[in-house]
Amino acid sequence: MQPRCIELLLDTRAVSTLPGGTHLIKCLGSAAIRRRSVSWSAGDAALFYLVRYTWAAPTTMVGLLAGTLTMCTGGRAQVRRGAVEFYGGFSRWLGVKWGFSAMTLGHVIIGRDTWCLEVCRDHEQAHVRQVERWGAAFIPAYLLASAAAWWQGRDYYLDNWFERDARRACGEPD
Ligand SMILES: [Zn+2]
Repeated sequence: MQPRCIELLLDTRAVSTLPGGTHLIKCLGSAAIRRRSVSWSAGDAALFYLVRYTWAAPTTMVGLLAGTLTMCTGGRAQVRRGAVEFYGGFSRWLGVKWGFSAMTLGHVIIGRDTWCLEVCRDHEQAHVRQVERWGAAFIPAYLLASAAAWWQGRDYYLDNWFERDARRACGEPD
């Protein structure tokens, strides 16, 4: 009997699929995951991008606020892999103050400098994929996940579900 298949349209890896790439299918019953080639029309791809960016927009707006502050305080911006990256100025100050090298806020990534952004890009891009799934709920859900980890006596950052998911997504140790 053929296993029933569902397409994981919002799976992290499927979301990153581009026209001409591959698409993940999870087959119920065998629990096996296989890939099949898919072809996207230009219209499909444009709609797909529009939905992703619109769904993530509430979180991206927070990132753009941080980006505006960065640009007003001597920072700079660059676009990499579909996200706007801000560095220097306010972003550097916040990173030093809060102890992070880079942080993702929707389709915006802020970092202390270009080196931090380069080193952290895969991990931060995994967070971008998360925001594309969670939309406006991302920031509250992230904070709740930190609170839950802390409540269980674990590290509020390292044991946060979103951090563990991002580490797994880019092949870092869990
Ligand atoms: Zn992270």
